[in-house]
Amino acid sequence: MSLAVEIMREQIQQTGSMMAAGGLVTGTCGNISARVPGEPYYVVTPSGIPYDRIKKKDLVVVDGSGHVINSERRPSTELKMHLSIYNAREEVGAIVHTHSIYACALAVAGKSLPPILEEMAQLVGGAVPVARYARAGTFNLAAAAVEALGESNAVLLANHGLVGMGRDVAEAYQVCLVVEKAAQVYAWATTMGRVEIIAQDDVQTLRHQFLYEYGQPKE
Ligand code: 13P
Ligand code: ZN
Repeated sequence: MSLAVEIMREQIQQTGSMMAAGGLVTGTCGNISARVPGEPYYVVTPSGIPYDRIKKKDLVVVDGSGHVINSERRPSTELKMHLSIYNAREEVGAIVHTHSIYACALAVAGKSLPPILEEMAQLVGGAVPVARYARAGTFNLAAAAVEALGESNAVLLANHGLVGMGRDVAEAYQVCLVVEKAAQVYAWATTMGRVEIIAQDDVQTLRHQFLYEYGQPKE
């Protein structure tokens, strides 16, 4: 396999370890994937292997139809959802799916998360919608997630969890952390009886500045 595949495997393995250590998933819940830059392939976590046991060769390389190109392992049962999102959103380079607690609370309550923190505007691009309920691992869930997602970088899966995406694995993981934090803040602010939502034009400006002015220029 190419160097690009090995780099994606490395990034996904490390992010899986952080995601489990950070409590965003328990056991074998959740999954991660990335496009392989410059190649028509994707790397995805294997189904049902705990993150601390995933070796690089366990990370499954698939083509755009989900056919396994490399690895003896079965890919994540949510591969259909990952590929559907890549098809719908060509700028998305990586996807992280978690079962984190406060995001799950919103997903159970059927409540979308409005843009209440600036880092949501920056990384997610606005609100996080909730997809209609569909069972885990089904084409129906893949369709429900894409339908609800729109242009957002995150979507809640009813009675299930959260899907975050970004230009690369680090950004997709950061999106999941930001949504989990914002979901927690939202729950607390709600108990205080007042939630202020950031105005749409401020959300758009924050997002634009994050994408084109924040941080260091690409080398
Ligand atoms: P996999 O282990 O097959 O990726 O499934 C975990 C999960 O979160 C299903 O929604
Ligand atoms: Zn899941």
